[in-house]
Amino acid sequence: REAKRKGLGAASFEPRLLERARHRALLRDALAEALAEGGLALHIQPQRHLRTGALGGAEALLRWDSARLGRMVPPTEILAAAGEAGLTRALDQWVLRGAIALQREWLGEAGLPQRLGVNISAATLQDPGFAEEVAAALDHAGLPPSALEIEIPEDLAVRDLPAVAETVAALREAGVVLALDDFGAGHSSLAHVVKLPVHRVKLDRSTIERLPDDPRAYAVLRSTLAMARGLELEVVAEGVETEAQAEALRRLGCHVAQGWLVARPMPPEALRDWCAAPVLRAVS
Ligand code: C2E
Ligand code: MG
Ligand code: MG
Ligand code: MG
Repeated sequence: REAKRKGLGAASFEPRLLERARHRALLRDALAEALAEGGLALHIQPQRHLRTGALGGAEALLRWDSARLGRMVPPTEILAAAGEAGLTRALDQWVLRGAIALQREWLGEAGLPQRLGVNISAATLQDPGFAEEVAAALDHAGLPPSALEIEIPEDLAVRDLPAVAETVAALREAGVVLALDDFGAGHSSLAHVVKLPVHRVKLDRSTIERLPDDPRAYAVLRSTLAMARGLELEVVAEGVETEAQAEALRRLGCHVAQGWLVARPMPPEALRDWCAAPVLRAVS
């Protein structure tokens, strides 16, 4: 990259840098506005048990259709902008409140998910005060702590793991369900599973997409599932797109599937109809 920079010269390089900086500033501005004025949304992606087809929980995923930018902004871009703008904590709070509001609406309704997972940033999980905040919000809403699942991102490697472990232990103590997200995507998953007292692990799509043909993927999954059994963890496969993948996972003893085969993430209003529709096969 250094060579390329020199080759191109400052004259052609700078305008592009400026353009990018301007674009990022606009993104940060638009995000702050969306956060303040209700421009963000949560979509819900349900999960099913691979053996029985029963509902196995659901995940809330951030969506932003920005009028100002004229496009859907993907979560990865939202998170980066939030980080730059110092809005990570505010964003996590918004997601948490949104998920709690939905669970309040669904509480006690047969057929609807009685537990909803939210993705919380590593930075927020480093703050031990976060656990108290979560417990207070659940209590205020009159929800049992088990109505909320917190998904812990894989990128913790670069963060302060002891601080996160403290928050995670406090959340577990409070009765919140904990999942380790993107398991197998990075190098640190095993270290995390040893140090963090989670209930579930979510297998990253990068491994699932190599099913059903890649023997190396089977080897990795077999040992992951053996470990999960030893630690009494529930295993959720992410990004399950085909029945062949579901069948392979079923045979491996994986518990729960999430992915397009089950359902695409959908607006909360659509979930009632989806849940009411009959299940034809175990997962689809
Ligand atoms: P994640 O938590 O691992 O979420 C799963 C991602 O896989 C979602 O992407 C989902 O839409 C996508 N997905 C689900 N099933 C399939 C499938 O069968 N095939 C394929 N190709 N993709 C599938 P999405 O919504 O773009 O989110 C990307 C990542 O952004 C998430 O990965 C999560 O790390 C982060 N994220 C999303 N929402 C939030 C949020 O509210 N807060 C935070 N902090 N992070 C979030
Ligand atoms: Mg997740
Ligand atoms: Mg994931
Ligand atoms: Mg992922």
